[in-house]
Amino acid sequence: MTAQSKKFAKSKTSAADTAALQAATGPPPNCPPDVEQLGRASWTLLHSITATYPETPTPNEQNDVKQFMRLFGKLYPCWVCAEDFQSYMERNKVRAETRDRFGRWMCEAHNEVNRKLGKNEFDCNKWEERWRTGWKDGSCD
Ligand SMILES: Cc1cc2nc3c(=O)[nH]c(=O)nc-3n(C[C@H](O)[C@H](O)[C@H](O)COP(=O)(O)OP(=O)(O)OC[C@H]3O[C@@H](n4cnc5c(N)ncnc54)[C@H](O)[C@@H]3O)c2cc1C
Repeated sequence: MTAQSKKFAKSKTSAADTAALQAATGPPPNCPPDVEQLGRASWTLLHSITATYPETPTPNEQNDVKQFMRLFGKLYPCWVCAEDFQSYMERNKVRAETRDRFGRWMCEAHNEVNRKLGKNEFDCNKWEERWRTGWKDGSCD
């Protein structure tokens, strides 16, 4: 084997190793997001917005989140997800009269997607512990 062909053989092996590693672990973190990564990041944003929403919002604040959710549903960059989410919001109008109502509404919207994907439902009595205060056992302190 010449030095050149050895180098080629080595680079082929390393490309195969990379492909095998990617098949096992997914692409590197600095690649464009897939539907799951996009979903996790988006739910983090949405639930965090409910967590920082005022306990007793003004009418303007209530309008702002309703408009935000409408545009979010329209622009969500997964076409099938966006269509279903918009249809869910048509049937289940955003509840934003208080922080707790908005947090529970978001939790229920998330549960609708969980059901569609065959995932476990989340206990919406715990939305605030998960996204605002941290768990009562102190594990987030
Ligand atoms: C608006 C929207 C619509 C989507 N539609 C689709 C779709 O049609 N098809 C598709 O394949 N994917 C869709 N996704 C993505 C999907 O919901 C998940 O984000 C993705 O499958 C990754 O799931 P996961 O199991 O890692 O956790 P995720 O569902 O992303 O949840 C993240 C974390 O939120 C917490 N959590 C779970 N459920 C709740 C809840 N009900 N309330 C509060 N907290 C909760 C849990 O701690 C969980 O680890 C959508 C995402 C969004 C934001």
